[in-house]
Amino acid sequence: MKLLFATSELAPWVKTGGLGDVSAALPVALRAAGIDARILLPAYPALKAAFPDAPLVASIPPPGPQLYGAALRAARTPEGVPLYLLECDAWFDRPGNPYLGPEGRDWLDNGKRFGLLSRVAALLAGETSPLDWRPDVLHCNDWQTGLAPAFLHYLPHGRQAPSVMTIHNLAFQGIHGRDLLPELGLPESAWSIDGIEYYGYLSFLKGGIQHADAITTVSPSYAREIQTDHDGMGMGGLLRHRGDRLSGILNGIDTAQWNPAADPHLAAAYDGKHLAAKAKNTAALRAEMGLADAPQMPLFGLVSRLTNQKGVDLVAAIAEELAELPAQLVLLGNGELELEKTFRALAAQRPHQFGVRIGFDEGLAHRIEAGADIFLMPSRFEPCGLNQMYSLHYGTPPIVRATGGLADTVIDDSDHAHGNGFVFSDATPEALLATVRRAVATWHNRKAWQALQKRGMQADFSWTAPARQYLALYQSLIQTQ
Ligand code: ADP
Repeated sequence: MKLLFATSELAPWVKTGGLGDVSAALPVALRAAGIDARILLPAYPALKAAFPDAPLVASIPPPGPQLYGAALRAARTPEGVPLYLLECDAWFDRPGNPYLGPEGRDWLDNGKRFGLLSRVAALLAGETSPLDWRPDVLHCNDWQTGLAPAFLHYLPHGRQAPSVMTIHNLAFQGIHGRDLLPELGLPESAWSIDGIEYYGYLSFLKGGIQHADAITTVSPSYAREIQTDHDGMGMGGLLRHRGDRLSGILNGIDTAQWNPAADPHLAAAYDGKHLAAKAKNTAALRAEMGLADAPQMPLFGLVSRLTNQKGVDLVAAIAEELAELPAQLVLLGNGELELEKTFRALAAQRPHQFGVRIGFDEGLAHRIEAGADIFLMPSRFEPCGLNQMYSLHYGTPPIVRATGGLADTVIDDSDHAHGNGFVFSDATPEALLATVRRAVATWHNRKAWQALQKRGMQADFSWTAPARQYLALYQSLIQTQ
């Protein structure tokens, strides 16, 4: 089976969140399961630098009235996954975040940039592809490739592969003006409530949800939640309508990159049988962040985009109480300026208890997962979430809110046989604080804590099982074609 995985992020080169990790790991797991999975993504500067000699394999004339022509270059990741790099320097040769300009605002031409990516994904899935290699299934991810199923629907070219649309986060819907429709070369007939029109705008993600042959999202709970008006972010009705095509497949984690027994970022290696060495990472993390060397206090860790979604404001709201417990906190994140300011101020007030690093730092993310005693992830909504799985795998029991993938992976400590963390329901500082107190009480009970750590570390969060589920889905699409 041949699979084209179309994405706008690929770790370690381009990553703003979980999509980059999934794009790096899932195709590897699919290839291990015998699928010829290949990735299509834009040739951003980081990829051009990583693969400077990638040969040209196809030239693509402008595929729409206002779209630039492009080239496809072939490369291969160190794990052996073939890449098709979509080269269009005017649109993709820009430094930094793939979606935002230097002021932190969306690039104004994102509609055309990712319209081109979607258009080319559709092109490669059909009979008029400039490549000899034709996928049996096209797998699209998030709004940036969401228009590909719409292109396949409105501009079909002979035999073409069925498509899967995976929603990694429903909050990002790729909303653009109506003008984009003719600019991309989509027909007027696409402008309808059964097409890509969305409350007077054009939505890339809606195009994918409406026209893909299957829709997935990244956890079973999130698949249920997004079909409600409450959590459907304006797409609940559409997702209910397409409910028979929608399923949830829990993400895995990349256990080669995230393995406490062989993690080059850590001060000391450890596993479930040698948990004592974890303390060395805790001490090193305290030193790195300038915190007091105070092993009698639990050290909380948090790695996150700083946005309302992640509930980090709830953590800021209980900072005083945390300090008085007493406890320490290490936070790594970036995002909304107000939140960055809040956490910087907290660290300035209590430099020996709160260590804050504003920025994106892969190595420090690993050291926090390993060094913290307790991980915080109080998300308001969470499609899957990777950090809680990393923390479980690293023997750092998480405190999570019962939502989406957090609810599917973390079992509360009150279940003495299966508990691996702490779960609360209300997105309020009070509910978080009560759970923090509960976790700290358990942390002081060494034996109970170690049992909790070990249960988290024993679980299999690898991509093996999810890859099998995707494979079954692809097979079902090919059979019903
Ligand atoms: P989301 O995709 O919503 O941001 P996930 O938990 O699914 O959340 O994935 C986030 C990924 O990004 C994880 O691999 C996490 O470690 C990483 N990450 C988030 N913020 C930072 C940061 N500031 N520095 C390093 N890694 C980060």
